[in-house]
Amino acid sequence: MTEDWRVMWEELGLDLAAHDDLLEVLGKSYREIYLEQENRPQGMGYFDFVMREVHGLRIKELLNEKKAGRKIIGSFCVFVPEEIVRAADATLVGLCSGAEFATEEVEKVLPRNTCALIKSAFGFKLGRVCPFIESADMIVGENTCDGKKKSYEILHQLVPNLYVMDLPQTKSQEGRRLLKAEYLHFKRAVEDLTGVGIDAQRLKKGIETVNRKRKAIQRLSSLRKADPAPISGLDALLANQVSFYDDPKRFADSVDKISNELEGRIAKGEGVFPKGTPRILLSGCPMAVPNWKLPWIIETSGGVIVGEESCVGERGMRNLTDARGSTEEELIEAIVDRYFQVDCAIFTPNPERLDHIREMFRAYDADGVIHYGLQFCQPYSIESMLVEKALEAENIPILRIETDYGMEDVGQLRTRVEAFLELLK
Ligand code: SF4
Ligand code: SF4
Repeated sequence: MTEDWRVMWEELGLDLAAHDDLLEVLGKSYREIYLEQENRPQGMGYFDFVMREVHGLRIKELLNEKKAGRKIIGSFCVFVPEEIVRAADATLVGLCSGAEFATEEVEKVLPRNTCALIKSAFGFKLGRVCPFIESADMIVGENTCDGKKKSYEILHQLVPNLYVMDLPQTKSQEGRRLLKAEYLHFKRAVEDLTGVGIDAQRLKKGIETVNRKRKAIQRLSSLRKADPAPISGLDALLANQVSFYDDPKRFADSVDKISNELEGRIAKGEGVFPKGTPRILLSGCPMAVPNWKLPWIIETSGGVIVGEESCVGERGMRNLTDARGSTEEELIEAIVDRYFQVDCAIFTPNPERLDHIREMFRAYDADGVIHYGLQFCQPYSIESMLVEKALEAENIPILRIETDYGMEDVGQLRTRVEAFLELLK
């Protein structure tokens, strides 16, 4: 940290000693995993800075926004429509959930066999180490998988400002109607929180802001189709992760800068790994900061990740919201249309996701798919078997990995990944 932020953290109610421990672990893994990569684009310097300041300067900015009367809303899922939040001049931040913390405390309130992502959200709250949670005026939980929806009943006792949003589980007309009703309800809750009436003009502006961010990531993603890959999967993942915290305009400008640089690399035939390095499509559960274990293993075992079929990746970013409508009703419809395309494994059946994996495999000229499931995540673990069968039927190599946030299985995972990459050569 470039400045002493301790007073600010103390005022937010953080446990300073525990928070120091967290920052130390985070800093160490960032140095080992990120800064040791070779030939990184210069533009990644901005993201290194963001990560260094993620609990410092960024929190200070959010607190300044609050002082100026803006509200901060925290979310755990890409189904929370940022367009509506932006339309009310509020700021949406992702609550990371990518590291184990205060596990003992968590296991007093949640069963041990709950997925690491949910446990992590609880651990950050119970351990009082997340300045984003403590800064948020409202936290949105969404009823997606059973683990999340039941755990919100308990989280509600820890965070009084929790707003729970229902979500459909089928892509039926009834499902779409439910999503629309929930988004209208959410819009009213955001209006109540902020005191801002959201009209068509505001919605349009919100949509444009969020689309701009998505377009920047889409541009970066499409450059990863080149061989040699101009950017590592780890760095591209980081850009996706930072999209959940950063100011959207500044973020989009920074990503565009990297894309300009990558275009130069592609023109010169330069890459981060030699041409012909096995190209991996990573598919499955979202990877929140600082969950970098599997990508790090893949890219230090002779592979390069060229795309993420994930909510922290293309599933979360590939669709834009149509901003052409001129009435509130048309724009809300456009938002519902956009989010209804997200092919999360909570939907049943979920054939679009399978189509999308195949489509990405071809578009990114991948050699194999690594399916990443978090232990005890039923939606993605069960779906991974269907994905495996379908891809194998088309002779697409696939490796299914199930893991958590611990580092105990690194050796074993590395052996499996190396064997898979060997097969692809
Ligand atoms: S995987 Fe599903 S529940 Fe998780 S963030 Fe994505 S959409 Fe939300
Ligand atoms: S990883 Fe799976 S179990 Fe965990 S919150 Fe996401 S969908 Fe639910």
